[in-house]
Amino acid sequence: MNKIIAFRDISLLKEYASRNSYNLGDAQVEPFGDDDPLRIVLLGPPGSGKGTCAKIIEELYNIPVITTGEMLRTSVSKETQIGKIAKSYMDRGELVPDNIVNTIVEERLLEPDAVDGFVLDGYPRSISQAKALDKILDKIDKKLDHVLYVKLEDAVIISRTSNRRSCPTCGAIFNRLNKPPKISNVCDICGSILVQRDDDKEEVIKHRLEVYKEKTKPLIDYYRKKGKVKEIRGDIDLKLLPESLKNVLKA
Ligand SMILES: [Zn+2]
Repeated sequence: MNKIIAFRDISLLKEYASRNSYNLGDAQVEPFGDDDPLRIVLLGPPGSGKGTCAKIIEELYNIPVITTGEMLRTSVSKETQIGKIAKSYMDRGELVPDNIVNTIVEERLLEPDAVDGFVLDGYPRSISQAKALDKILDKIDKKLDHVLYVKLEDAVIISRTSNRRSCPTCGAIFNRLNKPPKISNVCDICGSILVQRDDDKEEVIKHRLEVYKEKTKPLIDYYRKKGKVKEIRGDIDLKLLPESLKNVLKA
């Protein structure tokens, strides 16, 4: 097979390939041009494999994954003007209002590492945030390329997540379906009895999925109207996922 794989940085590709035992064979490697920035909004329910996709895109194209949490923490720790305001809300246990979050997003997207693209994960969460993002990008004369929706049937997400078992002592995570511990219900690393976290219980997952759908549907509709939405299944084999992501994002 003679696949052409585009990478911004060849050394990143080799590192990625060896870490994931991904055989490049005689694939031709093409550097990914700096004139092809990728600006992506990532959507997908919890447990869909969205995080894995984000990591792979980050490595494939050498662009940062930007989450709301990371942005808030950074601007708070840098003690910027807006960070101080955000902190006052967080200290009171209140949600940081949209206009503050939007300003933080704007500042973050102007950082040098985001100039050649980014993956936004967890933002926007609402139509009004999506419109704010449009305005921010307009202002800095950039455009959003894709809204990548990582899809997976509820039943698969529920089965994956409810079979997860965690070690209360060392934090290791196992899965009865595809990553079972050597001895049933015992941590391979420290020997503690594994537990099912409340978050991984079927009822909790079901509720979380409902909430997610309700909140995200209008957002997906908004981006569909703009022709931005691309879909990928969240359970593609890890070895095939980089190639699949590339094909989806190229289309
Ligand atoms: Zn353990």
